[in-house]
Formats: sequence, C-alpha cells, structure tokens
Amino acid sequence: MNTRSYLYQTKKKKKWPWIIGLLFILLAGGGAFFAHQQGYLALNELFDEVPQEEPEPIVEQQPEEVEPEPIPEPEPEPEPEPEVDRSGAKGYEGNEVLPQEPTYMSGILMASKQYPLPQDFVPTDEMLQEVQQAFAELAAAASLDGYELVAFSGYRSFERQQELYERYVANDGQEEADRYSARPGHSEHQTGLALDIGEKNFEQHFARVSFGDTEAGKWLAENAHLYGFILRYPEGKEKITGYMYEPWHFRYLGKELALEIVNSGLTVEEYIEQ
Ligand SMILES: [Zn+2]
Repeated sequence: MNTRSYLYQTKKKKKWPWIIGLLFILLAGGGAFFAHQQGYLALNELFDEVPQEEPEPIVEQQPEEVEPEPIPEPEPEPEPEPEVDRSGAKGYEGNEVLPQEPTYMSGILMASKQYPLPQDFVPTDEMLQEVQQAFAELAAAASLDGYELVAFSGYRSFERQQELYERYVANDGQEEADRYSARPGHSEHQTGLALDIGEKNFEQHFARVSFGDTEAGKWLAENAHLYGFILRYPEGKEKITGYMYEPWHFRYLGKELALEIVNSGLTVEEYIEQ
C-alpha cells in the first residue's frame, strides 16, 4: 500500500504540475491574446484619431489663410476716394470765394465748381463771334445729315445766373439745384463759350437727358468736336465734372483742343490735371 500509495502519489504528483502548466499556458495565451486585442484596438483608435486630427488643422488653417486675403482685396475700393467728388455742393467746398482774375488751365478758360470766374467777368465780342461762327459751321454740317440744330442758350451774365440759381433753389432745394445748376460765378455760360443745343421742333428734349437718345443728339455727341465743341458733362462723370449728364451742353474750345480732348477720352477736369 505504501509503495502503491507512494507510486500513486508519485503519479498524482506528476499529473498536477502538468495540468497547472496547461492551465497557465491557456491563461497566459488567453491573456496575451486579450492584451494583443486591446493593443490592436488601442492602436486602431490611435490610427483613427490621427487622420481625423490631420484634416482638422488643414480645414482650420485654410479659412485662416483665406480670410486675411479677402481683407486686402477690398482695398482697391478706397482707390476712387482720392478722386475729388465735385458733384453737388461738395464741388464748391473751398472754392466759394470768387477770384479777381479768371483761371486758365492747359489753355482752357475755366468756369466750374472748382475754378469760378470773377463776378465781373464778361466775354469779349470777339469770343462770342468765334463761338457763333463755329456753331454756324456745326449746324450747317448737321443740316446736311438731316438735323436742324438750334442753340437755345448761350452767354449768361453773372446776374442772370444768380437769378436762375435762386429760382432753382426755391423750387428744388439747394442740394438738388447744385446737381444741375451752377451757382453764380461757376457757370460755363458766363464765359460765353458754352451753348445749350437742341433740335428745332423737338423742344420736348431741350435741356433734357432724353436729347442724348435722339438721332440729332447722337449725331452731335459724335461730331461736335470736329467744329470745336465738346460734350462738357458726359454720362457717369458727375463726380468728376461736378454736373449730371447734360447731352445738350457743349463747350467751345476750338477745333484743335476739342479734338485732342475727345481723343484723350478725358473730361476737361481730368485733362487739366494730367
Ligand atoms: Zn448749359
């Protein structure tokens, strides 16, 4: 029994370490597998998070980089600001006092919101005759093309302009009157070199923007400079010339100067400052 039991015990003793060893291997293997699974998941999560984080800074950086760009882009808008706004009452600012002598710039006798005439300026008969003769030539050319032009307004004295301006202010208020009528001393009509032109029998277009859409008005805009006259207040140049579009108002400059200014594409204001 002793021997047997000893043997039995020995056999038993030999069996248990094997079972424990097997269990240990299974547990260790399971544990290792579990740890590996966890490690894999942890790595996977990290891997997932990395590409998620990467596009985020790109998305965040893009608006940061794009946003500062549109800010300098609108800068070109302030560029027109240096351009002096001579429209309305603004054009008179700092130029309200009439000078003692007339202003000539690039050979042009100025009469504008910026450069007024002396109150006592009166054109010479010679000047008035030259304009009259030039208009006669212009009208003759227009007549050949079928348009009978008339000058319904020419030389206007300081006193007459004062009378007109005060009437316009009474009717429309100063703000509106300053857009279409000159204050006394600032009217080109006081030079005697400006004419308001229309078509005979079409008085409904006299001193009206609609004249620019008539065939006669178009002919005049295209040909006046050949006879020494220029369309003084073109469309869209109100802030430069100081006056709204006046397709009827022409300024006599002589053929040479009129041709040069028309070819330059500039208004008188721009031409004298270039
Ligand atoms: Zn006029």
